[in-house]
Formats: sequence, structure tokens, C-alpha cells
Amino acid sequence: MGLLEGKIALVTGASRGIGKAIALKLASEGADVAFTYGRSKEGALAVAAEIEAMGRKAIAYASDARSFADAHSVVEQVVADFGRIDILVNNAGITKDGLLLRMTEEQWDDVIEVNLKSVFNYSQAVVPVMARQRAGSIICMSSVVGEHGNAGQCNYSASKAGIIGLTKSIAKEMGARGIRANCIAPGFIETDMTAALPQDLRDQYAKTIPLRRAGTPDDVAKVALFLASDLSSYVSGQVINVCGAMNS
Ligand code: NAP
Repeated sequence: MGLLEGKIALVTGASRGIGKAIALKLASEGADVAFTYGRSKEGALAVAAEIEAMGRKAIAYASDARSFADAHSVVEQVVADFGRIDILVNNAGITKDGLLLRMTEEQWDDVIEVNLKSVFNYSQAVVPVMARQRAGSIICMSSVVGEHGNAGQCNYSASKAGIIGLTKSIAKEMGARGIRANCIAPGFIETDMTAALPQDLRDQYAKTIPLRRAGTPDDVAKVALFLASDLSSYVSGQVINVCGAMNS
């Protein structure tokens, strides 16, 4: 029997990368999985098919994570389709890098809205559902740069630091209703997001990581599984770094 037998998960941004790895990992341990995607419809349908091939239920919902109204209607639809929500993974995220002096208002607003506002949107929509159940696990994707900052990523670092504050506050507000909330702070993980960086910069990063390799989406998904399951029943309000000791 899997660790998540009978559980329902909702993952934002699971058409690719870390979100996809998490959706598949949760399904492999018995969860049925609802997930959202933005632009990658083909990828989303392939993820849903992969989950169904494991014998689990999966539905992909097209939704812009920055939209408050979309988040609330997706959550309503997931409850109608699946009956409950036990696990929320706030994963959707983007980068629009630039030095502070050259950063446009649009770069700032886009990153804060997709990365940080989306966590507010989905968490607020899901919390009443979990509170009624007197149980739930909320997992939010921060980053080591939310803890340490990063030149060229003031917007992204601020969004990821904001996620930590928001998640710790949810843990404190909702603990009495049986809801746990934690962050994962990945380091340098091989996905489309990091593939966009120049090769020399990626090589430079890899050299500075004490474990001497970039992380994989599955490295992150294993920690998401821990936080989603009863293995972490007394873990709440925490940030778990998945970074090979990078920046630690
Ligand atoms: P990725 O490969 O670029 O995938 C991003 C995912 O987010 C995609 O599924 C994308 O969906 C979705 N998404 C983006 N904007 C969206 C929007 N407006 N509405 C709905 N979905 C949206 O990125 P990743 O590397 O897997 O990153 C996943 C999370 O981990 C992000 O929060 C990221 O900040 C965080 N993280 C990543 C790293 C890393 O090294 N890769 C390190 C630390 C933290 P569509 O393609 O369908 O639009």
C-alpha cells in the first residue's frame, strides 16, 4: 500500500519540470492528482495520461496561477471532481531576471504575481476545504535564493522569501485545524527554467555545489512526498532545502 492511498492532491504548474515530477511521485504512492498548467497543454495531457497509466485519476485544469478568480474556481471544480483536497503543492513559478538598476516594473510585477500571489490565491481557496476535513498538507516551492538573495534575481528572490513568510503564517493560523504548511527550497535543479541559463554559468553553479551535481526534479519530488505524507505528521512551518549543500 502506498503512502498516499486514498489522498487527493492539487499541484499548480505540473505540465513540466518539478511540478510534473511531484505529480507523478504523489500518484506513484497512491494519490489521485488534480493539477494546473498555463501554456503547455500537450505536456499537461501527457502527465495526466502517465498518471492514469498508474491506475490513478488525473485531471489537468488550464489556469493562470496569478488569477485569484481562476484559483478559486479551479479549487471549486477539483472538489466537485474529486470530492476533497488533502495536499496542495504551490509549485507554479517563473523567472524574469535582471539587475535591480535595469529591472522593469513589468518584470517585477510578473514574477511577484506568478510566484507569490499564486500561493496566496490557491492557499486561501484550499484552506476552507482542508479545515472542514480537519487535515491537510500545503507545500510551497520557495528557493535557496529566497533565503540568501541572488544578484540579478531581486524580483525572484523577493517572491521566494515572501513565500516563506506566507507559508509560516499559514502554519501558525491553520495548525489548530490540522493543516500543516511547509516550504521546499530547491537549489540548482535541472529543468527548462535552468536550461535557459548560459552553459558556462550552469557549469559554474555545478562546481560550487558540494554534492558536485545539479539536482533533479525527482530529488525535489521525494521531499514533497515526505511533506505530503504522514511521515511528516509533526513537521509544519519549516523550510527544507534541497540543494546539495549549495548556499547552506
Ligand atoms: P519550469 O520547468 O519552468 O516549469 C514551470 C511550471 O510552472 C510549468 O508547469 C508552467 O506551466 C507553470 N507555470 C508558469 N507560469 C504559470 C502560470 N502563470 N500559471 C500556471 N502555471 C504556470 O520550472 P521548474 O524549474 O520546474 O520550477 C518549478 C518551481 O520550482 C518554481 O516555483 C520555481 O521557482 C521553483 N524552483 C526551481 C528551481 C530550479 O533550479 N529549477 C530552483 C528553486 C526553485 P506551463 O508551461 O503550462 O505554462
